Amino acid sequence: MRAIRRLTVRPVLPESLAGLTTLAGNLRWSWHPETQDVFSSIDPELWEEVNRDPVRLLGAVPRERYDELAADEGFLAGLRAAEQSLQDYLTGERWYARRAGADAPRSIAYFSPEYGITAVLPQYSGGLGILAGDHLKAASDLGIPVVGVGLLYRHGYFKQSLSREGWQQETYPVLDPDELPLSVLREADGSRAMVSIDLPDGPALLARIFVAHVGRVPLLLLDSDVEENSQHYRDVTDRLYGGTSEHRLRQELLLGVGGVRALRAYSRITGAPEPEVFHTNEGHAGFLGIERIRELTVGEGGPALDFDTALEVSRAGTVFTTHTPVPAGIDRFPCELIEQYFGGGSSPTPGVPVDRVLALGAEDYEGGEAGCFNMAVMGFRLAQRANGVSQLHGHVSRGMFNGLWPAFDEAEVPIGSITNGVHGPTWIAREVVDLARSLGADIDGDDTDALWPLVDKVDGRELWDLKRQLRSRLVDDARARLARSSAKRGFAPAELGWIETALDPDVLTIGFARRVPTYKRLTLMLRDPERLKRLLLHPERPIQLVIAGKSHPADETGKRLIQQMVQFADDPEIRHRIAFLPNYDIAMAQPLYPGCDVWLNNPLRPYEACGTSGMKAALNGALNLSILDGWWDEWYDGGNGWAIPSADGIEDPERRDDLEATALYDLIENEVAPRFYDVDGEGVPTRWIEMVRHTLKSLGPKVLATRQVRDYVRELYAPAAETSRILNSDYHGARELSRWKRKVRAGWEGVRVEHVESEGVSETAEVGGTLRVHAYVALGDLSADDVAVQVVHGRPGAEDELRDVATTPMAVGESYEGNRHRFDADVVLDHAGGFGYTVRVVPHNVALASVAELGLVALPR
Ligand SMILES: *Cc1c(COP(=O)(O)O)cnc(C)c1O
Repeated sequence: MRAIRRLTVRPVLPESLAGLTTLAGNLRWSWHPETQDVFSSIDPELWEEVNRDPVRLLGAVPRERYDELAADEGFLAGLRAAEQSLQDYLTGERWYARRAGADAPRSIAYFSPEYGITAVLPQYSGGLGILAGDHLKAASDLGIPVVGVGLLYRHGYFKQSLSREGWQQETYPVLDPDELPLSVLREADGSRAMVSIDLPDGPALLARIFVAHVGRVPLLLLDSDVEENSQHYRDVTDRLYGGTSEHRLRQELLLGVGGVRALRAYSRITGAPEPEVFHTNEGHAGFLGIERIRELTVGEGGPALDFDTALEVSRAGTVFTTHTPVPAGIDRFPCELIEQYFGGGSSPTPGVPVDRVLALGAEDYEGGEAGCFNMAVMGFRLAQRANGVSQLHGHVSRGMFNGLWPAFDEAEVPIGSITNGVHGPTWIAREVVDLARSLGADIDGDDTDALWPLVDKVDGRELWDLKRQLRSRLVDDARARLARSSAKRGFAPAELGWIETALDPDVLTIGFARRVPTYKRLTLMLRDPERLKRLLLHPERPIQLVIAGKSHPADETGKRLIQQMVQFADDPEIRHRIAFLPNYDIAMAQPLYPGCDVWLNNPLRPYEACGTSGMKAALNGALNLSILDGWWDEWYDGGNGWAIPSADGIEDPERRDDLEATALYDLIENEVAPRFYDVDGEGVPTRWIEMVRHTLKSLGPKVLATRQVRDYVRELYAPAAETSRILNSDYHGARELSRWKRKVRAGWEGVRVEHVESEGVSETAEVGGTLRVHAYVALGDLSADDVAVQVVHGRPGAEDELRDVATTPMAVGESYEGNRHRFDADVVLDHAGGFGYTVRVVPHNVALASVAELGLVALPR
């Protein structure tokens, strides 16, 4: 029988246990083991049964047990301690208050289409979501006033299982918001706060707002599944990245436009400060900029501004992070769809002209596609500051989007980079923290900085025993998963005996888990199956592989790769040494990374923008074995793991895979396994332990999300707030800036470098010599204050193109009739070898974040 309706009956706890509701209501429990202990001690079996979900646990505990607990002094003391710890965490003074400075932004809104915070809130599909979750957690740890904005998907992401033949199967469990750690945002009169968005095909789309508390950071999640909506609107938030273009567009309108409206409601209701900075994690939330322009052009909360002024105001406070160097990964819509939504009588952002919206996302550059609306392109045009997620990805992105700033060399394309990080307390195994504590580290669960200096104090034996313990825990978890999966695949119990001894807690364990897009090359290790078998079954130095990953439900190629892997691992000869574990998620990931000795990553360079799983592994003393892509390209130092040589530039993909797979096998056979099994008289592999120590010390502090978020504050949030304030106080600054940009664009034709002279050195100069440069520049209708004239110098290449470029500003030396000027500068020749230079004129204004911002430059003819 099926229920025709369901509701959730919330437990009524005795007063002395009310603290349990408080603890369950803040997701800080998910990275605070001591709080988890409190829940677990209520009923350890039930705790496992509800998959360590406090809200479900509290709903399932029988009344009599609560009565017992209410009289249990030991339990009550633990509960009080956990409550106190949460209270201190939420109210104590943290880094932001001490270090960020008085001018730091009062509030920062962070938008993301997905959030991976804990397994009990499955609102993520992979790295992007986990990163967003870690960003919020680290912001909370540092006391940064971030407010998260996202959507609440009724189905979350799918669960993966396997058919007998190893084909991926998907199920979409229905999530009941009443059983999630969320509360509904309500108006003062108790009614639900709602956002509403006009759409062309019917009445307004409505959404309610849920709030999740991520430590100190509120996360607002919009949900369109309300009775007031017609069914097709209720389905807007049905699932992550599902459906047609139009479905996705509606989701993104709800996220961007609805998200800004939800923030306004949140501030109005709770008195929280309005955000000064808006950060969009990937392009999906880009419409937030259009909504802010709408607010400003209709004069909500101030004078009504013209579009250009509103654009300057909004841009100054917006940060855009791009996440993919894979062209197919860029979010695009047909222009007709945008026209249909923004051009009709009931636009989501009424008053904003559709042609201006279209222009923001147009691929109107060389190589762009007419008729295509590109969310990343709009992201760059609506945000004054933008970044990629590792140094290499920043570089690749500058090349990829150079078309938006064609007058500038790639190096000056205004896209910086901040390398991703991971949240220590979430990803460092409890056993690691306990060991550090036993050595005297003062770690309250939220601050892991005290860990790294201790690495040298740990005895090799102790470190090795710890790794074995973690490996053992992984082996247990993997066996349990294999047993469940095999039963589900239809194998008879009699066929499953082998699982009891599958994997071995003393064998070199290599992990590989990630989503399965083609560029990540799940099956590269299967290039030469016989060779892999020999490595797995090596008589003295065997390896074992633990593998996991989900394929996008619509990606048949990915599913075939998974099937290939599963069928390989099903082979009775090797199945005790290689396991594919279905349903990769946070709950699997947490014991997986620490249990591995080596973390393998073999993407097709440079398509891995950053990658974060290897960082989580490193934090638990696993060594990375990876292609030099993403973060590894930046932080591999020769001693903290291994670099798989990549055959960049080889056009034939088959040959490239062959070369890289061979390099991978060679490394495992000749370097990795010999070192792992090279043990001293006590059975400790001292040279391996040295690498573990070096990994922890060299990578530990860098890969943390707290480092990442501090970088965001210093390099992007604080400067964005500063420019934003210059422009926004009574909007005078913004009006001036938009007027100035119009004037400069109109007058640029008249800017000319007429003649360049130099003196001081001849063709053979010496290091330390000074080159005096004079440039005669005509400025037409502009003034010398509107421009910067620069000597641009560097090493000339074969075709005189400049490399390692630096600029030296020039100052007016003399002025002539007709608004012509001589600009002078002295350039010191500070290194030997080739030297080349030129002179250029670029627009100059303190409110610009980059010389390339207007895309204008004048060079000598
Ligand atoms: C860390 C993590 C990812 C992202 O890993 P990448 O290295 O970026 O591929 C994906 N899924 C889960 C469950 C994770 O924990």
